[in-house]
Amino acid sequence: MRKNIVAGNWKMNNDLAETQELISHLKLQMVKEPTAKVYVAPSFVNLYNTFQSLKGTVVNVAAQNMHYAENGAYTGEVSAKMLKSIGVNTVILGHSERRALFNETDELLAKKVNAALENDMEIIFCFGEELKDRKSDKHFEVVKEQLENGLFHVEKDAWKNIVLAYEPVWAIGTGETASPEQAQEMHKYVRSLVTDKFGKDIAQDVSILYGGSVKPNNAAEIFEKEDVDGGLIGGASLKAIDFLNIVNSFS
Ligand code: PEP
Repeated sequence: MRKNIVAGNWKMNNDLAETQELISHLKLQMVKEPTAKVYVAPSFVNLYNTFQSLKGTVVNVAAQNMHYAENGAYTGEVSAKMLKSIGVNTVILGHSERRALFNETDELLAKKVNAALENDMEIIFCFGEELKDRKSDKHFEVVKEQLENGLFHVEKDAWKNIVLAYEPVWAIGTGETASPEQAQEMHKYVRSLVTDKFGKDIAQDVSILYGGSVKPNNAAEIFEKEDVDGGLIGGASLKAIDFLNIVNSFS
């Protein structure tokens, strides 16, 4: 049975004091047995501190990115080995901001995917079309290409470590959300792609999250769709009460 998951992507927000404050609110207000597996992804500087503070709670900690190399002359980068050494076993890869602002290509992402899997890390793999793709009715094609080129080279066995996150770029940070029907349509399509390539069992087991302006007031109607298994949350994860309301949006 696939898991419900809600992951908060804090992006480049919150200094140390703000991070600690957010964590203390999360710890105070989080229910003991949420109906979803919960993650937060702080910036690299706050990763160790966040991991230590949330140890023993139901909130898991993920990195927002990593390099594919084990170590070496890659100024400013962080490796899987470094993340694992502080206890962080999950990484978000392929976020649209990394793709668009930092020129991350499918080929680069495939290398990062390999590095994460070699280090037995869990991957939250993001993909999604831009507005121009949707307007020209190319959204299915674009998503298929991102998955085929960045992820679908993995072995069947790797899928136990993979979570998918469909994030239409036009809905990220814009206040514009895909309708529950649009999300369901794409999630169903993505599951069919996984079925075709890796088989029904893997496709039925993989969690597919939706991301793009999910808020407490729209989470429930999106999460109740059959192929939507939770959300990757940006803006609304920065306020504990909003994030926790989203975590508690599963029926
Ligand atoms: C994101 O960046 O992954 C995201 C979904 O952001 P927001 O919720 O702010 O649209």
